Amino acid sequence: MNAIQQEVRSLIKQLSEYQKSYYVDSRPQVSDLEYDRLFDRLQQLEKDHPEFSYPDSPTRRVGSDLDADFPEVAHTIPVLSLDKSYSAEQLLAWIEKTESKLDEQVGIVIEEKIDGISIVLYYEDGMLRRAVTRGNGAIGNDVTDNVRTIASVPLRIPTNQTLAVRGEVYLPKASFAQLNEQLEVPFANPRNLAAGTIRRVKSSQVAKVPLQMFVYEGFWESDDQMKDHLSILSTLSSYGFRINENLAYFTQDATMAKQKLKEAKLNGFAGSFGDIASYLDTHTKRRKELAYEIDGLVAKVDELAFRELLGYTEHHPRWAMAYKFESPQAQTEVLAIDVQVGRTGRVTPVARVRPVQVAGSTISNITLHNQDYINMLELGVGDSVEISRRGDVIPAVERVIEKAEGGEGTYHMPTTCPVCSTVLVQKGAHTFCPNPNCPQQVKGRIEFFIGKDGMDIENFGPETAAVLIDRGLVTDVDDLYRLDYRKALGEQSGFGEKKIRLIEDGIQKSLKKPFRKVLVALGIPELGKKGADILVNAGLDSMEKLLNVAREQDIQRLVSIKQIGEKSAQLYIDAFNDAAMIRRIDALATLGLSMEEQQQEEAPHEQSFAGQVWCVTGSFEHFNPRTLALEEVEKRGGRTVSSVTGKTTHLLAGSGAGSKLEAAKKLGVTVIDEQTFLSLLESVVPKREERQGEFSF
Ligand code: NAD
Repeated sequence: MNAIQQEVRSLIKQLSEYQKSYYVDSRPQVSDLEYDRLFDRLQQLEKDHPEFSYPDSPTRRVGSDLDADFPEVAHTIPVLSLDKSYSAEQLLAWIEKTESKLDEQVGIVIEEKIDGISIVLYYEDGMLRRAVTRGNGAIGNDVTDNVRTIASVPLRIPTNQTLAVRGEVYLPKASFAQLNEQLEVPFANPRNLAAGTIRRVKSSQVAKVPLQMFVYEGFWESDDQMKDHLSILSTLSSYGFRINENLAYFTQDATMAKQKLKEAKLNGFAGSFGDIASYLDTHTKRRKELAYEIDGLVAKVDELAFRELLGYTEHHPRWAMAYKFESPQAQTEVLAIDVQVGRTGRVTPVARVRPVQVAGSTISNITLHNQDYINMLELGVGDSVEISRRGDVIPAVERVIEKAEGGEGTYHMPTTCPVCSTVLVQKGAHTFCPNPNCPQQVKGRIEFFIGKDGMDIENFGPETAAVLIDRGLVTDVDDLYRLDYRKALGEQSGFGEKKIRLIEDGIQKSLKKPFRKVLVALGIPELGKKGADILVNAGLDSMEKLLNVAREQDIQRLVSIKQIGEKSAQLYIDAFNDAAMIRRIDALATLGLSMEEQQQEEAPHEQSFAGQVWCVTGSFEHFNPRTLALEEVEKRGGRTVSSVTGKTTHLLAGSGAGSKLEAAKKLGVTVIDEQTFLSLLESVVPKREERQGEFSF
């Protein structure tokens, strides 16, 4: 074997290994940057030396995500990857080449390249029959039960045709940040967490993750149904699928492009090919503002007849081209690893790195989560590392590029608290300082209590708290209500008469804050605003009830609540059994803080729906699961039914509404959309995002 052949074989072996870790295990061994570099090198070698082009090369096949835990099914459409370009020049050259190959002018649709998992939805007679992963492009895994849990996937569409719809399942950035925080070994990015979720064997676990789906291709059984991509998108949208309207349409002539987009009833940018470079530039910058991650844009030939002429390679369609963003990654060096003590006592290692720009911001601190995570990376002080910051997601160390010469190897967390020297304890993957009086914990607890997410005490900032804590006047949150602020702060510089009065006012007002606020302000792990809403709505609406559940170790009572998993339930029980917490709650109760949900907070609803019979169909932004909408109807005296009949008076129709909507129209039932429904309710219920409490797997 000569050197070139050897390099080709070794790249094939290496890339195949990386593919398995990435697609099947959802735990990549290397960054995308590194993977793409090796892939491009292999592609170049194969181009220069076609005699060393092997059929098992990753450049000639779709990276397989087949997983033995799920049944395999054959795709009836080609489910391939995409060819890629990295600059406007490359993309424009591809368009020019395509036009000259066809000897025709083409329309080009540019869509966002969603960084998720490719899924094909197969509908038969209008019903979702199967949802299948990309697999190896020809065969995929059947993950129907898991995909059914995604609210934006219609289970039924308003046509009895047989069609395949391809799209991307993804996890929004905000949900990722929230969920990942709870995982013992966090995922590097939303794509990996979404990919890991869709492969979970238990659908009930998948349902706890707010996955979403955008669809971007449709294939009808009879191929004369559609003429171009724009009509496919608008038809899919009319069927109730979620399409991504952040798209653009280009032809040689801008006026024509505008006209076509208008005819297709789609929003988006329209222009001439001359506008493409600036569109790519603007959209690259806009990416940060998106609620989900994209790793590029995709340009597609609009006309289906041309697509057919262009055809496919074994790896990608010739009628589409990805424009990949430069990867938001950088290399730097770990200068030190410190540990921080949080308000719950959790001790978190943080890497202090040589400051480096990644995706527009300077990164100098990166959380390392816990010892397991450090071990996984085999990370030590002095090591050169690759770091990433995808979208707005918290920076992460991706891998060690080079170990520090003469370094101390993998870092080990200290065995005692760096603040109070108490011996640290291990709970699961995390390390804790068990001393509730550890000054750092006290500070964190009080700052949280007074802060926006806690009691939100007016005119009381962390600086004031720091003065009081440092002078030893406040050691726990109840002290805040006993203090003589005039005495405590009167002599301090920066605290005039007026300021002290405002602080006192803030404290007084906070005594009247509702129970849910007090509950959250206690700073119990995983018991934020959403957690409090879930507990109270499930009937655990007083401190006494919560303390009782904890005292009796009644974990069942907690896990019987839909959005609470075992892990959070145990955390709540431990927290309410903690002696310091019990003392704190007692003290706050004695001081007059609200210890139970006030009845008027759940204001008795006017029986405005009395005599009405409501049915609900489709999916909603504010009511997920949609039983929440049914509850709102019932609270107002309405009756709810599961099918539309002559007796039904109202149908609440969300996106993806199908046969019930048709029946309602036929029977003359009043059809109400979500917005109108919200305005009919006396008070707006929390948004869907605000309802998600617990996602521990
Ligand atoms: P790709 O990510 O380059 O693009 C193809 C995919 O884009 C399609 O399969 C589809 O799922 C998706 N897509 C999103 N939005 C789309 C839209 N609007 N229209 C059409 N498709 C859309 O290719 P790939 O084959 O999925 O993965 C290869 C890439 O994955 C590599 O370039 C690398 O970045 C990464 N990878 C990384 C590792 C690693 O170890 N880090 C290993 C394997 C692959």
